Amino acid sequence: METNNKEGCGLCNATWGEYYREIDGDRMFFCCSVCADIFENMVAEVKERTGWKSIDYVELIGNYSAGRNCTARSGKSTFKYYFRTYSDGRMMKFEERK
Ligand SMILES: [Zn+2]
Repeated sequence: METNNKEGCGLCNATWGEYYREIDGDRMFFCCSVCADIFENMVAEVKERTGWKSIDYVELIGNYSAGRNCTARSGKSTFKYYFRTYSDGRMMKFEERK
């Protein structure tokens, strides 16, 4: 799985830290375990709502305090959503966007 954060952490693009977690069979880089938790929760939520088996790409626009507007792609399908989390990584809000 790829995201628009090419330089660093898959969630926030920070280039510090050295934390890896396997997400959907891909070893992804994150700055810390909280970012990995958030990303993993988000992926689970997207899969549950779409019924997708896997996600190819996620574009994330925003940040921790404002929340993030995202577009996920799986093959030719796309899914737009907004989500925000608590500081420990739990989901606070998840809404589908048209
Ligand atoms: Zn991060």
